Amino acid sequence: MNIKHSTYHRALEITENICIGCSHCIKVCPTEALRVFGGKAGIHADWCIDCGECYRVCPTRAIRVMDDDFNKIFDYKHRVLLVPSVFFAQFSESVPRESIYNIIGELGFTEVCAVEQSVDSLIDEINEYVKIEEKPVISSFCPAVIRLIQVRFPSLVDHIMKLLPPIEITAQYYKKRFERDGISDNDYGIFYLTPCIGKIAAVKSPVGGYTSPIHGVLNMDYFYNKVYLAYKQRIPITKTIIINSELSSKGVLFPTTGGESSHIKGKTLAIDGMKNVIDFLEMLENEEIKNVDFLEIRACDESCAGGILSHRNRFLTADSLRSIASKIPDTHNLVDKYKNYCSAVVHMDKIEPRSMVKYDRDIEIAIKKMENARELKLMFPGIDCGACGAPSCEALAEDVVRGQADINACIFLRTIFEKRGEITIKEAIKIMEEIWGKERFDKND
Ligand code: SF4
Ligand code: SF4
Repeated sequence: MNIKHSTYHRALEITENICIGCSHCIKVCPTEALRVFGGKAGIHADWCIDCGECYRVCPTRAIRVMDDDFNKIFDYKHRVLLVPSVFFAQFSESVPRESIYNIIGELGFTEVCAVEQSVDSLIDEINEYVKIEEKPVISSFCPAVIRLIQVRFPSLVDHIMKLLPPIEITAQYYKKRFERDGISDNDYGIFYLTPCIGKIAAVKSPVGGYTSPIHGVLNMDYFYNKVYLAYKQRIPITKTIIINSELSSKGVLFPTTGGESSHIKGKTLAIDGMKNVIDFLEMLENEEIKNVDFLEIRACDESCAGGILSHRNRFLTADSLRSIASKIPDTHNLVDKYKNYCSAVVHMDKIEPRSMVKYDRDIEIAIKKMENARELKLMFPGIDCGACGAPSCEALAEDVVRGQADINACIFLRTIFEKRGEITIKEAIKIMEEIWGKERFDKND
């Protein structure tokens, strides 16, 4: 069964020789994009929304983040690192910010900039946008939520705000600044330190007819360890770095739950955590949510403080962000510059639903297959045991109709067919081996 399509950029990959086929991942995927076959998990890349839920539960670290190689930064003369405020909240307050900047310079960057510098001007743009657009407006901040809506809630796609998130506005600011200073495209590299894999996919494969000026995305967990080790070892600082740390308290708190919605006029709600998000989007789709102007919806529990590449406990990270914000002013000196630079580039084009092409591109064939899948599902026990390698009985029925699985993959139906003499024990074992891998059966004799 080949389920590794590649229409969209994938931020995760499964290392087959590490995967033990335990099926923990298939149970948590919000789009049922995973299957176990031949004793190994595989991702339906076109259905994956890069939320990282599977990465969190994999007991063997078989799921790998497809970030950029750190050494890519040395392809450029001017190397800017865009750092989210969540990164600073990974460290205890006893670690001086100055030391962190100096180490980033020592590691090879020539300039460092706070990502959320663009938040102050973006908030004004969002308020203007919400005034005129159809309600509720759904924030475009969380890339996993945008993709979830594209895949599972296509009727809500038009509610997604067509304004770029802070990371892209800050990157555009740098691009324009380099252009203004006459620095050629080949000479500067803009890199982003991400707490989340969704943002890797969002930079490499953006929505809304947009091309990101970001040259590479680095894994925050990996980078944190590198910086912390250098700090502990007290590495000597020999290089200088330009520090662009202008940031307001609004910017620091923007990636936390409520950090965006609290600045938007009208009735707003903030929802975080994948399960809450799905429950809420179902209610929204069923028109059970009324009279709301703006929805801040984030896939991770505690928003970016709970990003999967965040090293520290999410509650401590969020608390640290609040503490940092309480010590700085509510605005900063570059707000006007951002307004001048970015007002022309803050908008995205229309965002399209992402078709999962569940059955067939031909609508008549698709409807027929859908009916077949519905009938087939009734034959299965409905307990979603996962022994077939699919996340649910419904998913197995769909796989069978698509020709990607055998009806006998269901352990319950197989037992009945065996009793009736419709398949032999040998055939039944062969099916088990196909799902769970020959190795496992040999090992267990
Ligand atoms: S990243 Fe999310 S959507 Fe993609 S396979 Fe993992 S759990 Fe499923
Ligand atoms: S959680 Fe998924 S990827 Fe990880 S070992 Fe189990 S089956 Fe393999």
